[in-house]
Amino acid sequence: MDHFPIFIATQTARIIVSGGGDAAMAKLRLLMKTRAKITVFAAKPASEIEQWHHEGRLTLLPRAMDYGDAVCAKLFYGANEDAAEDARTAHLAMTCGALVNIVDNLEDSQFITPAIVDRDPVTIAIGTEGAAPVLARALKADLEARLPQSLGTLARIGKSFRRASYALPFGRARRDFWRDYYFNAGPKAMSASEEHVRPALESLLAEHQTRTARAGHIAFVGGGPGDPELLTLKARRALDEADVVIYDRLITPEILELARREALMIDVGKEGFGPSTSQDHINALLVEHAKTGAQVVRLKSGDATVFGRLDEEIDAVDAHGIGWHIVPGITSASAAVAAIGQSMTKRGRNASVRFLTGHDTRGFADHDWRTLARTGEVAAIYMGKKSARFIQGRLLMHGADRHTPVTLIENASRPDQRVLETTLAALPAALEAANVSGPALTFLGLAPRAALAAAPSLNVTTLKLEEFA
Ligand code: SAH
Repeated sequence: MDHFPIFIATQTARIIVSGGGDAAMAKLRLLMKTRAKITVFAAKPASEIEQWHHEGRLTLLPRAMDYGDAVCAKLFYGANEDAAEDARTAHLAMTCGALVNIVDNLEDSQFITPAIVDRDPVTIAIGTEGAAPVLARALKADLEARLPQSLGTLARIGKSFRRASYALPFGRARRDFWRDYYFNAGPKAMSASEEHVRPALESLLAEHQTRTARAGHIAFVGGGPGDPELLTLKARRALDEADVVIYDRLITPEILELARREALMIDVGKEGFGPSTSQDHINALLVEHAKTGAQVVRLKSGDATVFGRLDEEIDAVDAHGIGWHIVPGITSASAAVAAIGQSMTKRGRNASVRFLTGHDTRGFADHDWRTLARTGEVAAIYMGKKSARFIQGRLLMHGADRHTPVTLIENASRPDQRVLETTLAALPAALEAANVSGPALTFLGLAPRAALAAAPSLNVTTLKLEEFA
């Protein structure tokens, strides 16, 4: 982030604009929404600016800016539409200690003005660091269409009720009350008329005061393979309401961003064979936070019920009588098979598919190798990188065809997704050559669909048996 967004108090601020043409007017229309004292320097001002001066909305000095003119100014806008005059006046303003913005000159500006969605007192500022003004405008248009005009009124009435809301204890109780107001009772009252809003607030407060405190609860949420768009709506809502989020290593930052700002975020990342937070400690954290009455989200990658040690956590919270539920997620096998354009089952090829883990708590995991070695079998192997050589050895020993297709999908659903197409015989060598460092799902018995494999967007590396012969 090169520019840090802040909101500046304008009640007592002085803001200076140098320039009297279109560029100056565009800025002035925005600035006049504030309570700042605005001074404009323009030798040849547009008639609108003169009009605003006569209406007392700003002070116009019909001359070029000079030494000392920017004393006590907080912000300065160079809008002269003349680079030399912008540089001269910006220098004058800077020596007076004002923060300087030059219209259409990102490089010499100390701050930039965002695109603004105005539902005063709710203000949304959109910035792209000057990189994509078109994008900022599109976002603004989208938000303008989505946010009801009444939002500002609801917020203003809400603000006047803040003190009254202190009747509720600080924290969750008060937050639940406001959530109820903004997303339920408020809009309902507003649709009748503005006069209904205040009485609605009063009865809502009375209702919340008689409520018994919510009990702590744990949602075991599947966070999917990494792409935030592959979260379920239920997962999003759970994140939105969580007081505490306890998450695994494979949860992407884009998904963590969706949690409430105030939520307590606890990383209990476990690396296969690497440093880890012990399962006992994770169980203890879940119990500890739920017991304080918190709404806890236990966020696991993919689907929480697939190789997620979910039952150990459920047993631990059950022992304390804590309520819980499971929110299913998209398991990485689903994302991986979608990436290679195949389906997991196919009439005439495989009537079943197995989900295997490469290793379990005792080391490399054992499976029904004889069945897996049969032609046409399909298996999705989780945590199969380190165990690749072991799996290959067992399968070949049980008569598997050396040419059986094996496909490894690294970082499925993420921007850095890669596909490694190989064969059972070449698997360990191909893995080494491809230098796979992200989480990877290995499909035994599936190759990328031929038509897709040629598409450059798929990012396929093909390292087959022949190449290692
Ligand atoms: N519950 C998870 C699996 C947890 S075990 C699920 O349903 O997907 C961790 C293993 O999942 C990793 O070693 C890897 O094999 C697989 N995995 C998780 N995210 C992945 C991703 N984005 N791409 C490929 N494999 C992934």
